[in-house]
Amino acid sequence: MDKLPKRDGNYVPLSPITFLPRAAAVYADRTSLIYGGTTFTWRQTYARCCRLVAALQVLAVSKNDVVSVLSPNTPALYEMHFAVPMVGAVINAINIRLDAAAVAAILRHAAPKLLFVDYQYTGVAKDALNSISDKNLPLLVVIDDIDTPTGARLGELEYEQLVARGDPARYPPRQVADEWDAVALNYTSGTTSAPKGVVCSHRGSYLSTVGLLLQWGVDNEPVYLWSLPMFHCNGWTFTWGVAARGGTNVCVRAPTANAMYSAIANHGVTHMCVAPVLFNVLLEAHREPLRRTVEVLTGGAPPPAALVERVERLGFNVTHAYGMTEATGPAMVCEWRERWDALAPRERALLKARQGVGALSLAGAEVKDLKTMESVPRDGATLGEIVLRGSSLMKGYYKNPEATAAAFRGEWFLTGDVGVVHPDGYVEIKDRSKDVIISGGENISSVDVEAGLYGHPAVREAAVVAMPHPHWGETPCAFVALKKQLDFGADEVSEEAIVSFCRSKMAHFMVPRKVVFVDELPKNVTGKVQKLSLRERARGLRPIASKIRGSVPARLTVSKL
Ligand code: ADP
Repeated sequence: MDKLPKRDGNYVPLSPITFLPRAAAVYADRTSLIYGGTTFTWRQTYARCCRLVAALQVLAVSKNDVVSVLSPNTPALYEMHFAVPMVGAVINAINIRLDAAAVAAILRHAAPKLLFVDYQYTGVAKDALNSISDKNLPLLVVIDDIDTPTGARLGELEYEQLVARGDPARYPPRQVADEWDAVALNYTSGTTSAPKGVVCSHRGSYLSTVGLLLQWGVDNEPVYLWSLPMFHCNGWTFTWGVAARGGTNVCVRAPTANAMYSAIANHGVTHMCVAPVLFNVLLEAHREPLRRTVEVLTGGAPPPAALVERVERLGFNVTHAYGMTEATGPAMVCEWRERWDALAPRERALLKARQGVGALSLAGAEVKDLKTMESVPRDGATLGEIVLRGSSLMKGYYKNPEATAAAFRGEWFLTGDVGVVHPDGYVEIKDRSKDVIISGGENISSVDVEAGLYGHPAVREAAVVAMPHPHWGETPCAFVALKKQLDFGADEVSEEAIVSFCRSKMAHFMVPRKVVFVDELPKNVTGKVQKLSLRERARGLRPIASKIRGSVPARLTVSKL
């Protein structure tokens, strides 16, 4: 066996860009992308990408150059996910909700060679560039509206003209030299610290893409709705994944209820990804049951079981995944088990709200006590930190060796997320380590308290953070947004009513000592509640005088993290 020689043909670097020529060969005439009145086939998408590859080479883009893009989910952003790495360069899709100062910070750090800007974001881009003193500013390319060009100009170049100009016969795509080469530079959403630039490899992206398709059970020829921004971890790898399955990308500029339901009705959407925050958008605008089941992958923040249950009643089938930029998207998927089919909807939703089991692309996903690096017992109660190891983890943080070193302990990547392992081996996140509330020496999971609050029929959104308490040190403070069409009496939705509802549903030491009603929770674009700002607000609040006495928690007597 060992004498059989290694052949070069066996060592072709793994890369997600190989999915594109394959889609063009196998699914040539199938629709690759729909955007307003524009449609392309896979043959056309491949041809357009090859022309863009040629144009990029003429602009002297070469290996390891960063190419940044500030765009909603347009055909251009989709195509760049292939064309940029097909030149050996690194795609950096920037969050379009950032203000000019935040965009400037990324541009300064990433130092891209080119910056592509959608016509609606030229103002932000101009302000960002004006604030950068560096002489080596990127060359600007405007992406005009493909359906109805506006003639928007900022730089000298326009995307469609660039594509038309490319000559792939002279400048063909470059082969990936090493699967460990960088494919994407993605900035974290900065929920707990300043955004960091995560460098993902071709190998990691290939494995993450294939693994997530398998774990979500995506068959060939799906119709995939882009309700998730492509700039969020490359659309959780589905920029590449839809090509791998010869699917159709339905691109929408913003995931409004109208855009999502119209796409479902008009294009036969089979799959979509949403942050849990979009569940409310789907629920509030919903009119009639869906004609066929739509598969929904949710993640990015913990999905409350009560919301999962409600959204499934509309005809969506929810799968839950947990991930992060550093894991090139998925780190865990709550794989569904046949034996759970017969359970009641409520029980099924509770099981689905768990983060699940390790992504296929990883060699390990465990919950460990960081002091001993021992795995916690499968008792559904002992807290530990989720740690990961495997090929789909990032290469490291760009230009930040200290943060890269701090993110790993030995071969394990430390996620900063705190969870438990249930007897069946499924992991459930209880909090981010910085969000755990320590009350009277006991850990309270804000996620558990939030899950309880979502059970109240009037609650639309809930977030729980630590509030200083003179006796307990910290105590939970709830921020609650109520449903818009309310037919509840004022006494049912008062602070006292919410508190007593919680008392009937959860251990008393977990019950919020303060409930603040808000119209909307502060969230970032990836759907994460900005707990930092809520914690600051809670710092100035005082707990309501209550009869609640601190009973000793039975379940959460755990080691401190
Ligand atoms: P940031 O860390 O700046 O928020 P990311 O977008 O990479 O940037 O977010 C990753 C984090 O989001 C995870 O570490 C975790 O805290 C949270 N998260 C992602 N998916 C889930 C999920 N399904 N359940 C709970 N938390 C999640």
